[in-house]
Order: sequence, then structure tokens, then C-alpha cells
Amino acid sequence: MGEAMRGSRLGSTSYEVDPGLYAPRELTTYVCKNQHRVTMPFSIEADEIPDSWPCACGAAGLRQGVQRQPVPEPKHVRTHWDMLLERRSIKELQDILKERLQFVRAKAS
Ligand SMILES: [Zn+2]
Repeated sequence: MGEAMRGSRLGSTSYEVDPGLYAPRELTTYVCKNQHRVTMPFSIEADEIPDSWPCACGAAGLRQGVQRQPVPEPKHVRTHWDMLLERRSIKELQDILKERLQFVRAKAS
């Protein structure tokens, strides 16, 4: 307690922001696929101005001047088959299959 508390007495301190301190704003225009335009004022100090903004029609508006982001390559999902192939070759698998078939047939007869 002490230093940190000084000057931050709740109730007596005004938290109103001085209008003169407002960060400058940048008008960002978004255009949706239906050619609707939405203009949003973002603080240019904002960490990140979104590249898209939902349009009133439901479509996503794309920030003007922004290239449509390349769709990232879908990550290859390893299937059980891929994992199997990492451990065994097709030849090995065929041998195993043959073995299993012989085993099953021997049991069935
Ligand atoms: Zn729209």
C-alpha cells in the first residue's frame, strides 16, 4: 500500500477521457461481395484493424485495399493408413494379410 494507491482514489478521480486525448481515427471501408460498403472509424492506434467486418446483409465485408487472404493449405491430416504406411511397406502388409487369411481359413476349416 502507499505509492500505488495514491492518486487512484475511486469516486473522487474522474475517469472521463479528455476529448483532446482521443486517438486519431482512420476510416476503414469494408466492401462485401454484394458491393455494400461499411465504413468504420478505427483508432489508428488500435493494435489491429480487422481485415473483414460483417456486413448488414450477412456477408463478410472485406477491408478495402486488402488482398483477399490466401486460404491456408489445409493441414494434411494423418490417417490410420498413413501411420500404418510409416511403419510397414505395402509388401509387408500384403504378407501380413496373407498370413492372417491363412490363419482365419485354418481356423474356419
Ligand atoms: Zn452486404
